[in-house]
Amino acid sequence: MAFKFKGVDFIQFDGLLSDDERLARDTARQFIEDNLIPIIEDCNREGRFPRELVPEMGRLGFFGANLHGYGCAGMSNVEYGLVTQELERGDSGVRSFVSVQSALVMYPIYTFGSDEQKDHWLPLLATGEKLGCFGLTEPGYGSNPGGMTTRAVKSGDDYILNGEKMWITSGSIADIAVIWAKVSDQNDQVRGFLVETDRPGFSAYDVHGKWSLRASVTSGLSLQDVRIPGKNLMSGTGGLKSPLMCLNQARYGIAWGAIGAAMACYDTALQYSLLRKQFRDEPIASHQLVQEKLTWMISEITKAQLLVLQVGRLKDAGKVEHQHISMAKRNNVWMALECARLARDILGGNGITDDYPIMRHMMNLESVKTYEGTHDIHTLIIGQSVTGIPAY
Ligand code: FAD
Repeated sequence: MAFKFKGVDFIQFDGLLSDDERLARDTARQFIEDNLIPIIEDCNREGRFPRELVPEMGRLGFFGANLHGYGCAGMSNVEYGLVTQELERGDSGVRSFVSVQSALVMYPIYTFGSDEQKDHWLPLLATGEKLGCFGLTEPGYGSNPGGMTTRAVKSGDDYILNGEKMWITSGSIADIAVIWAKVSDQNDQVRGFLVETDRPGFSAYDVHGKWSLRASVTSGLSLQDVRIPGKNLMSGTGGLKSPLMCLNQARYGIAWGAIGAAMACYDTALQYSLLRKQFRDEPIASHQLVQEKLTWMISEITKAQLLVLQVGRLKDAGKVEHQHISMAKRNNVWMALECARLARDILGGNGITDDYPIMRHMMNLESVKTYEGTHDIHTLIIGQSVTGIPAY
């Protein structure tokens, strides 16, 4: 018996948004309410990605939303962030899919690709006609991607790629993979390649047994002597800075998205606490300890909104620094996970079932805490920023 989402706005946050920003948010909210909320618990149980929603998400401009041209919506970064908030209010797995398609596949093609690559891929990815994935992490190298062992070797006009990638969102449903590899004849410099997933030697297998992001596809990729033409190199890439620039785009969306998950948990707990009665036939919301939990949640959600809005405004002004985005991702995902735990507590036994969205959000957020730079890696990024000393 899930509750209808009522929206969360404690300090007239909406007053800080423009009409266009509220429109982007409300459009995404309605889409999620009408299309994802009715099916998400089944998708989660079945471990099924709701692929049937992709064309409509494309029509609404959710893919590459903050890119301009090539059929993209050209939203501001704040509008894009508000869309990811609403997507993740539905489910972190669906937001992850959109983040990968947008920030980890379309953004690198847009930023580092040739005109031919952009003209071909971006319109197809914007509509969702083609799907993409981003292969950086390897079985042996997660937080330290610079250790990667995937290699690209020049062979005439072609490159031959060999390596293994792990934990790749959308890996087995992707048409195109952005693969990061060290190039042997370029001093092992990390470069980005566009690899069509139907090339001989490329295979993807799904990770099964996940308790988190069950409505998102997570895969391993294997590249065994995959031959690609030289024109598939993204010529603007050079060094680890290139994939890290992509991760910054995705982390920004995650910082907004986590607020959506927190809002879903808070709103559920608030509505439940007003209905559920214990002791003297009074709602549990009348007990001080329950109010303290609700107060903590709404305070932290509000602070998280202000933090990420300022980061978004800086991004729109071209002034954002990577450590700002690290702070927003680290704080907001931690905050959302704590909200999920408190909300689950308020629902008592009911909180552990999928009659309510809380456990699903909690389990999803465990992945969100880990991917795109773990909580602790962002601690070290911020620590380096304020001290000048890298402590990895
Ligand atoms: P590790 O790097 O082994 O870290 C384990 C622990 O050690 C963490 O707590 C970490 O903080 C800590 N640690 C590591 N180094 C240090 C240090 N120097 N100091 C202090 N603590 C440290 N990757 C992609 O390339 N593409 C994707 O699409 C993608 N999707 C993902 C989807 C899911 C569901 C998940 C779970 C992961 C995904 N990833 C993806 C991978 C993700 O980015 C990595 O899991 C993440 O970078 C952490 O790497 P790891 O899992 O190897 O953990």
